[in-house]
Formats: sequence, structure tokens, C-alpha cells
Amino acid sequence: MADKSVAARAPGGTHDVLWPESTRWEALLTRFAVHVERAGYGLAHTPIFEDVKVFRRGIGEGSDVVGKEMYEFEDRGGRTLALRPEGTAPMVRAWVQHRPALPWKAWYATPAFRYERPQAGRYRQHHQLGVEALGPADADLDVEVVALADGFFRSLGLSAFGLRINSMGDDTCRPAYLDLLTAYLVDRRHELCDEHRERLEANPLRALDCKRNGCREVADGAPGFVDHLCDECATHFARVRKGLDAMGVAYELDHRLVRGFDYYTRTTFEFGSTALESAQNGIGGGGRYDGLVEMLGGPATPGIGFGMGIERILLACDAEGVLTVDPAPLDAFVVDTTGGSAARDLTFALRAAGLSADRAFDDRSMKAQFRAADRSGARWVLIVGPDEAASGTVSLRPLRGEGDQRTVPVAEVVDAVRRASDAPPAP
Ligand SMILES: [Zn+2]
Ligand SMILES: [Zn+2]
Repeated sequence: MADKSVAARAPGGTHDVLWPESTRWEALLTRFAVHVERAGYGLAHTPIFEDVKVFRRGIGEGSDVVGKEMYEFEDRGGRTLALRPEGTAPMVRAWVQHRPALPWKAWYATPAFRYERPQAGRYRQHHQLGVEALGPADADLDVEVVALADGFFRSLGLSAFGLRINSMGDDTCRPAYLDLLTAYLVDRRHELCDEHRERLEANPLRALDCKRNGCREVADGAPGFVDHLCDECATHFARVRKGLDAMGVAYELDHRLVRGFDYYTRTTFEFGSTALESAQNGIGGGGRYDGLVEMLGGPATPGIGFGMGIERILLACDAEGVLTVDPAPLDAFVVDTTGGSAARDLTFALRAAGLSADRAFDDRSMKAQFRAADRSGARWVLIVGPDEAASGTVSLRPLRGEGDQRTVPVAEVVDAVRRASDAPPAP
């Protein structure tokens, strides 16, 4: 008896991706790999879990991601580990551990885990694509990384999205700006939402990107960091803007854009789809994190990167009607009513020749095998019945109006299917 107590459901907030939807994932991953490898980024894989300190130090205890949403657990050896909530800190940890030569340009594709209330467009396990570049402090690298993300979205056919950028300064100018901002917020304390009124002194930046009404109005009038940058940060940001202008990458300056992780410095950016609802329209973002390598125990090393959510990108693609990927059809499906060994040999021969082929199993009836052939979407059905078996031939029949049925000797089947599959499919 089947054990009915086993819950045959994916855990809440997670989802399965099955064929043919998965063909879009394949297409997206392939396009991303080609796009970023063209710019010199190499694939890196790091573990799905890390010592929890990698995230506590890098992202910061005060962030929602670490404070409220992280999947933390103790393993059987008593170590406190966490499933990665984002992509950057583990990549930087890997660089600190192995010290590959600088500049180090790497990309990743990974699941990310956050214990959030499941809702449309938010998952407890979602999937991210991203790049990290360590070494250069050069503003041209910021331009490259932002333009790379922008170009990727456009290469998918997306156009209904906007880019917001800001500078978060550095250790030189941030303390004075935070004092200024705190003083401004204290004056208007009664207008802030409950959460940010209480956390004002601990993290004044958080009120700036709060979407609740009170905070929003206060944030609109708040002093912008870009007006209070030190000379080095101001020069850097001016070069980033000039570079984006030169590359034709459109952006909007938004002084409320202060991404919630402690590690960000200087340039921060976020892409939002205008085809999605505004609460969940973020399709990607990132920024410079010049202090993160040191936070994780390495030598002072600048860095910048971006991450983007696969599920969100696909939602945006749906909303814009782009990246519709049709699975490639099989070249041939073998129907064998003589016991199955002919189907076994033919499919192997076709696959060895680089053609795609499938077959039915379990010696089903001719009718059942033809139904399976239809379902497979193959271009040609190859039929081996008693007549064909007796004469050493195979009958080829088009499944979708590509010419007439004909009979060829077994030895010529591979060539016949190849010739047929090279021909353009009928409209
Ligand atoms: Zn608020
Ligand atoms: Zn500065």
C-alpha cells in the first residue's frame, strides 16, 4: 500500500519547473552564460549553504534578510549553517578562500532561500543569476556591470523596464550623511511608519526605501546622498553617470534607492519592470561593495556585482509576451510492433548520428504507439511492422504534413531521416 502520510507536495513557497516550461529556463540560462562570458565572466559554483557568519557579517544583522528571513539550521556536528539567501556573500567568501588572480570576474546561477510569506512572485526558494567583479575600483567597471544587466534584459526582448541608480558613498562620507539624515528624520519622526520610527537611530537609511505612506512622503523630502558625497565618491559617481550616458543606458537618479544590505558602497542600482505590479516589479539590481571582502576576512579589495531573479524575469517576459520558447521537436519516433528490438536499434543508431529519437516501450498496440508518437511531436514516425521486418525495411511517415510515406531499407534510415530533418519544416 502507498503511504498516504507522505505529503506529495512541494513545500509551501517552493515550486517545480517541469518540461516544457523548463525549456524557457534552459534558454534563459544559456543566453545569460553567452552574454556574460562574452564580457569575460567565468562560471563559479559555491555551496548552497555556508557558515551563518558569512551572511551575518556581509549582509548585516539588521537587515530583514538576515534578521527575519534566513533559513538557519544546526547540522549534526553542531555547526550553525544557513541556506544562501543571496548570491554575493558566498562568491566573495570563495574568492577570499582561494584568492584567484584579480581582477576576478565570475557569474553564477543558484537557488536562493528566504523564509517569507509565500505570495505571487515571492518564493522561499527562488533562483538567481548574477555576476561579481572583484579588484578594480574603476568607475568603468560599474558602467560595464550595469550595462551588462541592461543589455541582457534587452536581449530577451524586454523593453518595459526602468533603471534607478544612486550612490551610497563610502566610509569617508557616510557617517556625516547618516547624521544629517537622522537629524532630518528625527524632526519628522511622528510621520514615519511604526517600524521605522522605532528603528530610526539604528538604521535611518531604511526609512528611505519604505513603501508605506508616511515614510514615502518623508523620504521624498529627505536630503539625498548624492548631494553630500566626498570628492572621491562624487567624482566616481559622475564618471559612472557619464559612462552610462555614453553607452546609451537610460537611468533615473533616485536618492531613495538604498539597498538593504550593509555591504553596499557607492554605486547602487535596481531594474524595475513597468509591466509588473509595483510591489514586486524588481527584476534585478546590485551595486558596489568595496568593504565586503574585508568584512569576510580578506584584504581590502573593491568589488561590484548584480543579481537577478529568474522567476521575476520570466514574469516580466510573460507580461511583455517575449521569450516564448518552443521545445525543439524530436526528429523521429519509432513505432515497432514486432517486439521492440528494432525500435531499440533504430533509436540508438539515430542518436549516435546526432539525431533526436524516441520510441514506445512495453510492446504496446500499434494504436497506442501511434498515440505516443503524436504526443511526442516528432517530425517523422518510423514504422516497423511485420511486413517491414520481413523485407528489412522501415516506413517513414510525416507526422505533420512533410511529404508522403515511403519505405526505405534499414541501412538507409539514418540518412533518410537526416535529409528529411535538414529540410525546412512545412509551415
Ligand atoms: Zn517605514
Ligand atoms: Zn565618499
